Amino acid sequence: MLTLFMSSAPRNPTRAVRIGRTHIGGGHPIAVQSMCATHTSDVDATVLQCEQLRQAGASVVRVAVDNQKDVEGLAEIRKQTTANLVVDIQENFPLVEKVAPHVDKIRYNPGHLHHLQKSRPIAEKVRWIAGVAREHGVALRVGVNCGSVAPDFLEKFPDQPDAIVESALWHCDLLDKAGFQDYCVSLKDSDPWKVVDVNRRFAEKRPDVPLHLGVTEAGLPPDGVIKTRIAFEQLVSRGIGDTIRVSLTVPNEAKAAEIAAGNQILDDIEHGRFRSVPDFGKGLNIISCPSCSRVENEAFVNLATQVKDLTRYAAQHRITIAVMGCRVNGPGETDDADLGLWCGPSTVNLKRKSQVVGTFDYDVVLARLRTELDQLIAAQR
Ligand code: SF4
Repeated sequence: MLTLFMSSAPRNPTRAVRIGRTHIGGGHPIAVQSMCATHTSDVDATVLQCEQLRQAGASVVRVAVDNQKDVEGLAEIRKQTTANLVVDIQENFPLVEKVAPHVDKIRYNPGHLHHLQKSRPIAEKVRWIAGVAREHGVALRVGVNCGSVAPDFLEKFPDQPDAIVESALWHCDLLDKAGFQDYCVSLKDSDPWKVVDVNRRFAEKRPDVPLHLGVTEAGLPPDGVIKTRIAFEQLVSRGIGDTIRVSLTVPNEAKAAEIAAGNQILDDIEHGRFRSVPDFGKGLNIISCPSCSRVENEAFVNLATQVKDLTRYAAQHRITIAVMGCRVNGPGETDDADLGLWCGPSTVNLKRKSQVVGTFDYDVVLARLRTELDQLIAAQR
């Protein structure tokens, strides 16, 4: 790996936001966090993973909540772990009211607020979320994701990075006007250079807002760590970033690897050990989600590994393949990839960009992927 030495700039003057017993921003040490991949309704397994992550050094542990069973699990998990808990809400935003009594922070995705209660204006939904958060002393994260940018912003700003930044800024404005200050923002993409670009642009306009950094669907180690490092080195050394997550596709029991990787990257940056490879990602690029409780088939992690092994022969080709664990983010987040796979309970959906190729059993999808990849390579010649 190439070692570059860069001096670090002072941290951005973000305001401090309390998350349970810890703080982010306001000069506090950069907090490293991770997410449970267990089913939230499985209380024992989730408590165990929360504790493992907390003991590994996670300042904040995220769990996913999609339904009433998860909410009931969460209430019990809260009693059994001392981890600072953040809940990830995607389409089912009305659940905010039910989860707020049991958590320290709630992440909502601006790109998913339009799905339910369609006639209710987004601004009103955000004011309502802020009101619930205030009532329960809970922090918020505005979590903007490349694969699920709000459609009205994509219409207004055809350049996706512009849409990501403007969407985040608009939500900050809404929260400010609602008199709610306990929030941070994340702007994530699977391309580390895009992560650098959108976070730098956001931080220039809102240096006061704490930033949660991450490269989404970074993939399997070591590539996932390298992609994340590229972004973090560029941002943290410029004083940007108050909390981080390294999203890795690893088996459930190995989730603490995300904390170890995050601590290692921060330690290296602090000591001037910059290791990014500028050319990394110019050949075959496999992106895969880190998995979470929404995974419907445990074969997902194995599939991601098989895809990586199968496609080694295409290493020199500039092709992106995305492997995603579920139907919540799978369909949207595979749109930009040349080839995308997203996993259902018993089948895998294969796509060429946004076009559906078909749905295949887990044991036959790889052969079809190979055919599609061969065609792409032939078309590049
Ligand atoms: S794609 Fe689905 S399974 Fe993977 S991390 Fe995102 S929500 Fe979880």
